[in-house]
Amino acid sequence: MPELPEVETVRRGLAPVMEGARFDKVEARRGDLRWPLPKDFVRRLEGQTVTGIGRRAKYILADLSSGDVLLMHLGMSGSFRVTKADEERTPGDFHHERSKLSAHDHIVFHMSNGGVATFNDPRRFGCMKLVARDRLDEEPLLRALGPEPLGNAFDAAMLASACEGKQTSLKAALLDQRVVAGLGNIYVCEALHRSLLSPKRKASTIADRKGAPNQRAVLLVDAIRTVLNDAIKAGGSSLRDHRQTDGELGYFQHSFRVYDREGEPCPTRNCNGVIRRVVQNGRSTFYCPVCQK
Ligand SMILES: [Zn+2]
Repeated sequence: MPELPEVETVRRGLAPVMEGARFDKVEARRGDLRWPLPKDFVRRLEGQTVTGIGRRAKYILADLSSGDVLLMHLGMSGSFRVTKADEERTPGDFHHERSKLSAHDHIVFHMSNGGVATFNDPRRFGCMKLVARDRLDEEPLLRALGPEPLGNAFDAAMLASACEGKQTSLKAALLDQRVVAGLGNIYVCEALHRSLLSPKRKASTIADRKGAPNQRAVLLVDAIRTVLNDAIKAGGSSLRDHRQTDGELGYFQHSFRVYDREGEPCPTRNCNGVIRRVVQNGRSTFYCPVCQK
């Protein structure tokens, strides 16, 4: 499942094709993804210009000249393939992937600059929705989201206050989208390892009794920002069939320190531990029982 860095990478890949360009033609090859598309989906897009492409948590938000916002989520297996007008295709690879997966090309945006963005989603957990820009604050999909982990509102004081008195595990708290938005299983495991904090520790232990942050909260916030920024820099990472926007399979070659590394030596300097996998709240957690306290 794409996480925040992958979504940010997709957003950056879409920007050159969509920003400042008009939807000349929109193909909705089926009426639903995770949910039905808006009834007037094509009509509300065609002829509109994309004035900017942003992101909120794992949602990509394209601002349109009409005042609508096109809200897009990749779900479990969604990806975009982008073709620019001036781009030379590499016939072999490109042709092969395209023919193999074209049955799952559900939405195609033909832009006025000659660019084409194709949304492919085999499992169809993705979504596209149109929301009026001035109603965005009331949008149910966005309303309950906590702060952006890379934004200014997210700091040790904020995280400690959100975790104050929480008896759940620190890992579960970090996966709670109301605490911080857009973090998923992979980067929570990575951030906890980097900050040497056990995923099983109670969430409340990063705050003092008054809810003020302790050193653990400071280290954790720093680690979260670092792992996300590193992954964005690397172009994101991928599981299974999630693909970068330029359509190249296997582009994401980000290496994780603990995620999916059960039985391997812990990469922390001077630590002799071995990475262990446990299941917390139905999800695999990878951590080092020696250096993560
Ligand atoms: Zn270790």
